[in-house]
Amino acid sequence: MVDLVGQHAKIQSELDEAMRRVQETGAFVKGPEVAAFADELAEFTGAKHVIPCGNGTDALQIALMALNIGPGDEVITTGFTFISTVEVVALMGATPVLVDVHPDTFTIDPAQVQAAITPKTKAIVPVHLFGQMANMDALMDISEATGIPIIEDNAQAIGAAWCGQRHGQSGTFGLMGTTSFFPSKNLGCMGDGGAIVTSDDATAARCRQIANHGMAKQYHHEVVGINSRLDGLQAAILRVKLKHLRGYLQSRQAAAARYDALFENQTGVHIPVREPRSSHVFHQYTLKIEGGRRDALRQHLSEHGIPTGVYYPVPGHAQKAFSKFQYDQNAYPTSSELAATVLSLPMHTELDAKQQEYIASVLCNFVDEK
Ligand SMILES: *Cc1c(COP(=O)(O)O)cnc(C)c1O
Repeated sequence: MVDLVGQHAKIQSELDEAMRRVQETGAFVKGPEVAAFADELAEFTGAKHVIPCGNGTDALQIALMALNIGPGDEVITTGFTFISTVEVVALMGATPVLVDVHPDTFTIDPAQVQAAITPKTKAIVPVHLFGQMANMDALMDISEATGIPIIEDNAQAIGAAWCGQRHGQSGTFGLMGTTSFFPSKNLGCMGDGGAIVTSDDATAARCRQIANHGMAKQYHHEVVGINSRLDGLQAAILRVKLKHLRGYLQSRQAAAARYDALFENQTGVHIPVREPRSSHVFHQYTLKIEGGRRDALRQHLSEHGIPTGVYYPVPGHAQKAFSKFQYDQNAYPTSSELAATVLSLPMHTELDAKQQEYIASVLCNFVDEK
């Protein structure tokens, strides 16, 4: 599904140099590499502050903590996402209010967000799923009209941009954006990492404090926080890879265009629908497979040495961990349908046309035969 070894081999000397620098200075936790990376990522996104932390899940949790979200509060989000988005809301003792997604773009439906707002709503968390942005025109209109802050879960779409009535980079529209540097993400390190992005000074200060044990000055703790930090080695690696990120995203987009051309005329298969106002940075290239044949196709591809992924087979409303919220199992027809039909193909910076032609021929032969 990904080829990080191939990707890293091309920048081996840059990575070696970065890692040696950290080893020589001994700044393994915090230190100059982390600060420099935060500055460089802030410049890349156009946001004022970047607060690095331990991973993308922590970033979401810190964002909720910065808004004092807890028992009695509601957070509106989607269940068609990685578990973290919903999990952190439950972890804080608040109620995740799930709404369905758009059947074409797989991102949260703003009309349903509007309809789900109550006096208890404390935040809205759209997910920029698979590398494409949620409808930030409509969501920001809702946020501004109601005063409810938005936290963008940008773990899958760093570097994407929205160009509608509003303009800007993913993660910079809401009060906060969160991201992950898990190795397979579009900007991945060699372990765990994450960050919160914000242009609000007070929010940045709160996030920084929460991520560092709620500490105001050394051993003086003002609020209850957590320990969540990016280490020096990961920051040094991310500084190298951030320089190549634009190129990496272009490679993904080129691979997606080749897949599009290969599947365009194939019946029974739907290629990703592009939201015209968002660039798509293709964290995943995800097809919809008609006729209840997704799992059989997946098996067939696997037998031909082609890995695939199903993101996500169980939407939030159907997860056992969230059973106490008693979601209406019939209220999410799109999420449920997508869970049964989506299939993600190998997508990474090193994918070449030959590999893709092989994948497409095996896939199309199977779909045509049955
Ligand atoms: C990966 C991911 C996260 C969590 O990031 P981690 O670094 O693995 O904790 C959160 N939300 C989404 C949408 C993700 O894809």
